[in-house]
Amino acid sequence: MMSVFNENTRRLILAAEIAGYLHDLGKLHPEFAGEMLGGGRNLGGATKDSCGINAAHGAILEAGRAYPPPDEMAVNPDLAGVLTGLLADPAWAEALAIPASWLRSGAVQASGLGAALRQHHAGDKFPAEQLSFLGDLYSFGADIRDSALDKASGVAEGGRQATAHAEIADAFGQKRAPYSTERLAAVWDDAIAVIKAHVFSPAATQDIAVTRRRLLADLQPLFSMALGETRRPTNDVTLWHHAHSSASFFKAAVAEGALRAEVNFKPLQTDEGAFDRGQLGRVRFRLLGVRWDWQALTRGMLTTTALVSLSHLRREVVDDLRELFEERAPVGNLIYKDDDGVLVLAPGFQEDEAAKSDALFARHLLDPLQEAIAECIEPLGVGTPFRLCWSAPALYLTDYAEALGLHADSCRQRHLQAGEEKLRVLWESANAEQGKLMQICPQCGLRPAETREYALTESRSRAQPLCDDCTALADRDAKRARVRHLAADFDFRSRISTMEELADEGDSSRVALLSVQVDAGAIASGTALITQLARPVASVRSALTAEDEKQKGNNKKHKSADISWLIDSNALGDWFEKRLDDLHAGKLPSKDDANLARSLLGETFWLTKKDGRSAAPGAAQRALEVAQGFLLRESAALPEAWQLTRHDGDRLALFAMRKHASPARLQRLWDDLRALWKELANEVAGTLDDRLLPLTLDARGLRFIVSAADADATVAIIGRLLAQRLSKVRGGLAAHVSCAVMRAKFPLYIALDVLGRLDARVPQVPHQTWRVESRGTNDKPVLDIIGQPKVCEPQVPPADASEKRVINISWSTPQGVVHWQVDTATDDPGQSDMWHPHVIAVTRAGKPVSGPQRLTHVLDLLPGDEVLVPPMTFDFMVLEGSARRHQLAYRREGEELRRPHWVMGEAGRSPLLLEGFAEFSRLVADSRWDSSKIKGLQGEMVETYEKWVRDVPAALRPTGRDAWRAHLRNILLRYVTGDDAPARRERLFKAIIDGRFFDAVEWTTFVSRTHRSLSEENA
Ligand SMILES: [Zn+2]
Repeated sequence: MMSVFNENTRRLILAAEIAGYLHDLGKLHPEFAGEMLGGGRNLGGATKDSCGINAAHGAILEAGRAYPPPDEMAVNPDLAGVLTGLLADPAWAEALAIPASWLRSGAVQASGLGAALRQHHAGDKFPAEQLSFLGDLYSFGADIRDSALDKASGVAEGGRQATAHAEIADAFGQKRAPYSTERLAAVWDDAIAVIKAHVFSPAATQDIAVTRRRLLADLQPLFSMALGETRRPTNDVTLWHHAHSSASFFKAAVAEGALRAEVNFKPLQTDEGAFDRGQLGRVRFRLLGVRWDWQALTRGMLTTTALVSLSHLRREVVDDLRELFEERAPVGNLIYKDDDGVLVLAPGFQEDEAAKSDALFARHLLDPLQEAIAECIEPLGVGTPFRLCWSAPALYLTDYAEALGLHADSCRQRHLQAGEEKLRVLWESANAEQGKLMQICPQCGLRPAETREYALTESRSRAQPLCDDCTALADRDAKRARVRHLAADFDFRSRISTMEELADEGDSSRVALLSVQVDAGAIASGTALITQLARPVASVRSALTAEDEKQKGNNKKHKSADISWLIDSNALGDWFEKRLDDLHAGKLPSKDDANLARSLLGETFWLTKKDGRSAAPGAAQRALEVAQGFLLRESAALPEAWQLTRHDGDRLALFAMRKHASPARLQRLWDDLRALWKELANEVAGTLDDRLLPLTLDARGLRFIVSAADADATVAIIGRLLAQRLSKVRGGLAAHVSCAVMRAKFPLYIALDVLGRLDARVPQVPHQTWRVESRGTNDKPVLDIIGQPKVCEPQVPPADASEKRVINISWSTPQGVVHWQVDTATDDPGQSDMWHPHVIAVTRAGKPVSGPQRLTHVLDLLPGDEVLVPPMTFDFMVLEGSARRHQLAYRREGEELRRPHWVMGEAGRSPLLLEGFAEFSRLVADSRWDSSKIKGLQGEMVETYEKWVRDVPAALRPTGRDAWRAHLRNILLRYVTGDDAPARRERLFKAIIDGRFFDAVEWTTFVSRTHRSLSEENA
């Protein structure tokens, strides 16, 4: 590897990164929660006067601090030592010193790791001689790049948490942990001890990479118990996620200055050497993806052991890449990982010309690192193909698609191969050996493997020799290590090791390979988060009105801003559209309008003179450039069909309202998804008495195997858990379940291939229009006959507040009625969740809706309203013979995704709705037909369908279909009887004509069948 940095530069970057992690240490102090919760008093005014710092949590190092209080300092010498050390420390100052030749003269060097902490809220009165260049680079280049997107909550009412009910929410808007001064007290003391032990040990600055690693390992659990932003609904991003994200931005910004050897940091400075806020727009970032194709790498896997071994190697590869990017050549941090690789937050190398910028990125970063990256990947196998994909330099990172490699045609990628040279040598020597028969290894399809002559009658599928790498994946060591590797991923030890054993324990001869997946692209682009609002218009309006009243009280001459027009989100969009029209005409808004625009957006800099994010000459042009490069950017990924925007004004309105897919929030979401998959696997294992064989787990989902007889119960558990966890965010987020059923001895690689084909639908499933059938709450008081609440003993235990605000919604969908229970509560009985449970409404009260107003809270839905819902789907395939899988490809038809079907033919059928699984699973029982009747009737239905519909010329199909349906009606009339027959007939009829019934028969009478049920049947 070419050396990217010398030792001093590495030290500088890593020390700066540590400073970034510690910038919000003050938010760990219990008094921060005291300030921010309930009726707490904000102490920022006091510290502004005493030490020129506008927020008390940024003043903890100063003599004029608001907290920690003097008595705490007096009894805790460690605390005093840590705070003094952060303010100034010769060893750390030396590590943080930027070489003089990299800076214009006059620049102030950092005196300690507290530079970012002190300066990120430094006001006008902060002493200029203490404004270090690094501290300012952190404040303007890194901190606001993350928090600008996590902000929520500025100028909006209802977000402040009550002291008694404050909580840390998870990424799904549900309570994760309580949040209080008491809980912070213990965390604070622990954090001080950790910092003292790692940062101020005598050897701390000798190997800063080691110090960093130890510090982060110990700080992560502590920071995860604190919040960056305490107001709802942005109380999901923990202090850890915010610190990690902004420290990563900072690291990349410092690395870029070090790498740009011609100019270093000089372009970011004023003539006096200070940080030049007018050049803010030069500090930009890219996402660099190191991506391989996991599906392709595992397509040929012959054993579960080989698959698990390769997963383990992949984890080691990710660790190696982490070490490379974060420590050895520290250019940024890994901020995302999944089965297919990682994303690195990297420097942007912004230049006015894109080509020049790309050339710098290639010369300073890609070229020197490429070989080392390939070396990291080699353990996945000699010759493993991979890609480097990167995004354009951006002010704020919201566009992940490019770096994830989802744009196959992007020019910003390189196709490479790990160990290319070694692979060539392998083949050369294989071919050179006389008398040996060589073939391409049947498992990896890449490397040479020895082979022999096969008799024509001999099966080639078993016991074929593999290449060396593949042989090692399933050797004795690999078999021994398997349980340990799986335990690390899944948090439990599986006692079952073969598929035969698994099938057998479930009293079946078959197994079911299951996969649960979310659409990573929809999450990364933020489209899956669009139904979560941080600032609903009503809350912004009431906050503005309240602020106005306050101003009037303070100043009789105060002129109120007219916000009478702000009746809904479309009005907000229209108002912004007028401002944009003016800007396009070169006209700047009045001072009042500019102020109002910032309040409405929840954004501090736009339309101010000091907005240095654009260097365009005119102020109007500058404002448009920032809008283009930032404010409008995130909604560019929203599908046109959702009709959430009528114009750019609506896009600004969405920016103002939405919870953003900031890097920190996405990290939180991926972490929570990973935890959800583990929970799911454990739940299934628990229910099935450990009859579960785990395979792989990443941020996007998990795969495991159960006995086929357990498949029905497993899918039901998955459906239940997902419905509960995603309840608040279901309007935007969906997960999908795929299942391949096979005999225990069936070739695994074919099943994996099928599972991959089933999973391929996940990013393609379109939103469906569902209609509200009914909507009710659980909190209706029990009323007696004259309408008075009963005073007698309650029949049921009193529901707690959260149960009370569970909304039941029944939807009419293409596959029948589906029920949701939406949690609209928070942990605070006095505060309902007005932020998360939104849906995209298409019609309301019979009228079509368009624009941001489509985002509708579930409590506002009425029967008859139509809504665009991301369906959760379930699809399965039974593999008896390998022919059918080749037809398994989905195609889009309006709001449906269809695939060929064994009965329906090319017309196919849609994936099943996961939320309709209970009905699907009951269909056969619902018919009340015994097995011989089912066999007979199904034969009749299939045969007539083939004869009358499927296999006739297209022109005859409509009449054939009518005849078939009439025939079905007759069958049902005759064979479905009883009091509830009409409703059951209707359900069965619908299920037969869309093909579901035939799958239900296969699922219920074949897949789920146990040996015992079979013998009972035959008895
Ligand atoms: Zn191989």
